[in-house]
Amino acid sequence: MDKYIESVYNSLVEKDPDQKVFHQAAYEVLTTLEPAIKKFSKYQENKILERMVEPERIVQFRIPWKDRDGKIQVNRGYRVQYNSAIGPYKGGFRFHPTVNLAVMKFLGFEQTFKNSLTGLPMGGGKGGSDFEPKGKTDDEVEAFCTSFIMEIYKYIGQFVDIPAGDIGVGAREIGYMYGAYRKITNLHGTCVLTGKSPVYGGSLARTEATGFGVVYFCEEMLKAAKKGSLKGKTVAVSGSGNVAQFAAQKAIQLGAKVVTLSDSDGFIYDPAGIDQKKLDFILELKNVKRGRIREYADKFKCNFTPKAAPWSVKTDVALPCATQNELNDKDAKKLIDNGVACVTEGANMPCTLEAIKVFQDAKVLFSPGKASNAGGVATSGLEMVQNSQRYFWTFDEVDAKLHGIMVNIHKTAYETAKLFGQPGNYVLGANIAGFLKVADAMIAQGYTA
Ligand code: NDP
Repeated sequence: MDKYIESVYNSLVEKDPDQKVFHQAAYEVLTTLEPAIKKFSKYQENKILERMVEPERIVQFRIPWKDRDGKIQVNRGYRVQYNSAIGPYKGGFRFHPTVNLAVMKFLGFEQTFKNSLTGLPMGGGKGGSDFEPKGKTDDEVEAFCTSFIMEIYKYIGQFVDIPAGDIGVGAREIGYMYGAYRKITNLHGTCVLTGKSPVYGGSLARTEATGFGVVYFCEEMLKAAKKGSLKGKTVAVSGSGNVAQFAAQKAIQLGAKVVTLSDSDGFIYDPAGIDQKKLDFILELKNVKRGRIREYADKFKCNFTPKAAPWSVKTDVALPCATQNELNDKDAKKLIDNGVACVTEGANMPCTLEAIKVFQDAKVLFSPGKASNAGGVATSGLEMVQNSQRYFWTFDEVDAKLHGIMVNIHKTAYETAKLFGQPGNYVLGANIAGFLKVADAMIAQGYTA
């Protein structure tokens, strides 16, 4: 590792030794920036890396709320406002018991590069809470969301910070939070949150955007490598939430055979393929009934493997769409033994550093989430545009713009990798391309930026 980069990395580890998942995200980015840092001395001279790894601001707060028995519960909330050099902070809220400051920092750091790659003027941020929405009543979720907004509303706004959804935060949670924000501030239509329902200002196709975008990106990877298209290919998807559902849907629409989905209890394997009718069952199961993936296996008489991820099946393409570090080096080797040709990340950092190395060494096409899952935040950007214009676009108009953005992100990552001497290395291409724009904006705005 380059001495300057090594010193920046060592320093962030020393400052926060327990933030392992943040170290991992920083390591992945910093080590791939080496060719750019060597080529342009201005980044080291302006201490850009030291500034970039440190968030501009972190807000941490308590969230007291009342449960169904009238008892007060207390959770912890965060907003990490990472970098606003190219636009207001933008990034989702995650509600999950594993949320802590390290997770928020890793996600906010990643988001900065991802948002830069979209080409839209959005800085990076992330927030959330260790609140677990699973098993809660709607009233409990509403009570929590209202209390959460009562504190965080002071720090967000259309020109400051525009949060959205993530794990555990979907249409229901965004609705309660938007309602609470509107009551507190008496403001409407200012786009303080994206991922809203289209009935009160959301964008059509935002729900589908991350998953669709992952598949558009995957198609571009296959095309660039002259490996055909998704038509006729077998696809293994993990997760069964927002990203997984619509990645599966788009893959099915493009003629692929999707054979797996999962949740934290295990995965289903349907060798006949999940068609649109079966997927409709999943959408109802997960988004309305809030049930478990094993119910799919009961209904369609296929295999359910408890407490495992779907990386042991025979597949051409893998789309990890659940959570961070869900695919390790052993899983990567199993996928390669089973013939995988392309791995397109849908979740944020689902593959460990060791797994990425295994894929790259074996010349398996591999793209990092910050490039391939950027369609969600890009469409959030389009939601902001529509809100500013007091106007809306049709589903097809938004979908066409999303497709164009994903093609462009692919081209940027692909060409940047080639330009910096590592053709086909999407990790390096995406990191350098995302970095250059933010770094140049920081330099242009002076040393306090
Ligand atoms: P959802 O909450 O809708 O779905 C998450 C899915 O992942 C669920 O099936 C969940 O299962 C599963 N999951 C969560 N934690 C674990 C775990 N520890 N082990 C196994 N499975 C797990 O979230 P999203 O689909 O929105 O997000 C999925 C990923 O995509 C995240 O990494 C997120 O950051 C990323 N992402 C999301 C975007 C969006 O627009 N929503 C945009 C860009 C990235 P269970 O229900 O059992 O917990």
